[in-house]
Amino acid sequence: MNIKVGTRGSTLARTQSQWLIDVLAKAHPQVNFEMVIIKTKGDLVQDKPLDKIGDKGLFTKELEDALLSGEIDMAIHSMKDMPSKLPEGLVLTVPPVREDARDVLLTPHRITALDELPKGAVVATGSKRRIAQLQKLRPDVEIVGIRGNIDTRIRKMQEQQLDGIILAAAGLKRIGRLEDSAYYTVALPETTFIPAPAQGILAVEVREDNQTVKELMAVISDPNTIVQMSAERSFLNALNGSCHIPVGAFCEIESAEITLYGLYGLEDGSRVVTRSIKGAPEEAENLGKQLAKACYQAVHEKPGKVYLAGGGCGDPGLLTVKAKDILTKADVVVYDALVNESFLNDARTDAEIIYVGKRAGNHAMRQEDINALLVQKGQEGKLVLRLKGGDPYVFGRGGEEGEDLYDAGVPFEVIPGITSVIGGLAYAGIPITHRDCVSSFHVITGHLKSNAYDGSSDLDWPVLGKLKGTIVFLMGVKNLEKICDELVKNGMNPEMPVAVVHRASTPYQRVVTGNLTTIYDIAAEAKITAPSLIVVGEVVNKRQKLRFFDEKPLFGKNIIVTRSREQSSQMVEKITELGGNAIEFPTIKIVPINEAACDEKVKCLKVYSHIIFTSINGVEVFFDSLARCGKDARAFGNLHITAIGEGTKNALLARGLQADFVPDKYVGEELVSGLVPLLTKDSRVLIPRSKNARIYVVEELSKICPVDEVQSYETIREDHATVDPLAMLNNKEIDYITFTSSTTVEFFVEKIGAAHIDAINTAKCVSIGPQTSKKCVELGITVDIEAETYTIQGMLDAILKDSQK
Ligand code: SAH
Repeated sequence: MNIKVGTRGSTLARTQSQWLIDVLAKAHPQVNFEMVIIKTKGDLVQDKPLDKIGDKGLFTKELEDALLSGEIDMAIHSMKDMPSKLPEGLVLTVPPVREDARDVLLTPHRITALDELPKGAVVATGSKRRIAQLQKLRPDVEIVGIRGNIDTRIRKMQEQQLDGIILAAAGLKRIGRLEDSAYYTVALPETTFIPAPAQGILAVEVREDNQTVKELMAVISDPNTIVQMSAERSFLNALNGSCHIPVGAFCEIESAEITLYGLYGLEDGSRVVTRSIKGAPEEAENLGKQLAKACYQAVHEKPGKVYLAGGGCGDPGLLTVKAKDILTKADVVVYDALVNESFLNDARTDAEIIYVGKRAGNHAMRQEDINALLVQKGQEGKLVLRLKGGDPYVFGRGGEEGEDLYDAGVPFEVIPGITSVIGGLAYAGIPITHRDCVSSFHVITGHLKSNAYDGSSDLDWPVLGKLKGTIVFLMGVKNLEKICDELVKNGMNPEMPVAVVHRASTPYQRVVTGNLTTIYDIAAEAKITAPSLIVVGEVVNKRQKLRFFDEKPLFGKNIIVTRSREQSSQMVEKITELGGNAIEFPTIKIVPINEAACDEKVKCLKVYSHIIFTSINGVEVFFDSLARCGKDARAFGNLHITAIGEGTKNALLARGLQADFVPDKYVGEELVSGLVPLLTKDSRVLIPRSKNARIYVVEELSKICPVDEVQSYETIREDHATVDPLAMLNNKEIDYITFTSSTTVEFFVEKIGAAHIDAINTAKCVSIGPQTSKKCVELGITVDIEAETYTIQGMLDAILKDSQK
């Protein structure tokens, strides 16, 4: 039997075909294999870059024609030259064992790794895949195009004094030029410099119906190579790969598991991604498809974005407008220890919140892992807010995060924050500069590598000792004694004022002052721990007049607000204004109900003579109904309007309605006694109100005239929480818990757990009025304070009075 083996005429093509013929001849001594050389277009056009010639199957077409016409029986190619789709009637046989799959760098420099190439080196390669990877690994390298066979390229490297060329190891090995005295050879690992799919594998193309040749090949095939070829080719096929786009794949085989690495990018190289996938060898083809899909999506779908933002130094009001804007939109929020957790209230309720800081007993996530997390979320297409304490670049390792994002091609922006260096000092009443005393400031890490008093130190103390400006040490409380000693030893006045500011701009702020000689004992006495700022300089004395924060009446008081998120803003604002710390723990939320019934009442509003609004929610839901019915405030006509509470009155005013009657006290009894004289038997009253309201008012008024109650909304339990009040109660950190209705009491106890009543009672309970107090008592809560006026302001007045006792 005579088999005609077609091949291109290049040295490489002939050498590798001869290799295969030898292997086949050995396995099949009875068969005669004859080499037939055929020229292809790729061989003829040598002067243009490959991707400009613009033909798929540049090196294969003529061989395929010869196969189809019967001129040859098998065509041998480098698998990496094979387009993803073969012409009708042709198939690939199983492959012979793979040669080295790697790319190698040939270089005149005596080096062993890509990293060691000189800075700004000039390297030649024409492949988009190689260009993309080279640019990523060595952005400084200048890349130039190159064409021609192996010999030509090596010659060009020498003639043009290039610093390197990249080629496939397999071809070089086959023609015996992998090692040469004229250059050094640096192998590029397949997993970090991904080769072309099936690089190093010979492709044997046959007519689909040629069973004989298929059987001859089956005998010499290699099982691992089959798996690799199947995974890598399936990846290529799924992406419709050609030499016009950057595409690479490598399948690593480890006994029962394979890992497929893929690279894919846009034709212009502007976006290139690498991904990997693991699975069983039997899954090879499927894994190729899956990986292709992941790469395709990563390249073509909208990429995510990471914002590296500063959260300010503590006071939630110090978050920038820009950071807050992103916070409300982010899919993922990654934050650490120094960030005020109350921010999380502004995140979307479905946002993924990831804490990466240190927490009692738990180690912080390692920096590399944080970087990887940000990259991963960004690559998943997410909008990520990375919130750090203070400013992200002030001892915040934000730079490292940004660099990794850059390397991974994930877009990012930086939102600067108010650093504790500036903001923390301000809240302690210390201006970082002042015309009277300093003309510079210096920010130093006090986290010293060497804490030992052996003279070794990583700070230049002789220089620091001579500084005239304000010096702020971060992360330095542990080394306070050494810091003061060194400064004095190196010439600073021992009486130089020093302040230590603990948790600046938070309700836990504590400031101690002294001088370089005394401060250590003073801070130790006061048990000041991290996080604290150490401020050295005359500006510390300015605190006497400039302190504004830790003197407010409710300073240092932690107050839980249990109202619904929508309703709590007024209370939170007032507490904050007075220097208190409002901890929002909403226990209720409002949902509209019976919309159709409400709309019915709105449509026939004319039949009523009186309307009673008992809450802001009642007003809002009613106006929603008006809007649905295409109406506005004019629909009220001469209707007599009663509003219960200041808030309700104002909600009406905001919509252009002046309430006719606002009872002095905000309880049902007061309402009834005020309203009864205004009603006759011909009156008709509408009360759009909560499902949870007391029956009392309706019952009493019905004794005089018809009363229609429409239950327009309902108060249900809010189950979303961003703080853990029980932990704070157990730590005795909470000063007051405020209850604005019996429902808030009920749900608060449900949420905390009735078993924890004792913990709840460690704080002072503030009730808005008798109904609420009654509920407290019923559930075992001691009512310490009841407001005199049953309003938010009334509650605050009561708290103020209590706190000044
Ligand atoms: N990026 C942060 C600093 C991070 S380093 C910034 O710009 O503020 C951490 C150190 O910052 C802490 O050890 C402490 O020295 C200081 N620090 C941060 N916030 C602080 C605060 N509210 N009060 C006191 N020190 C604070």
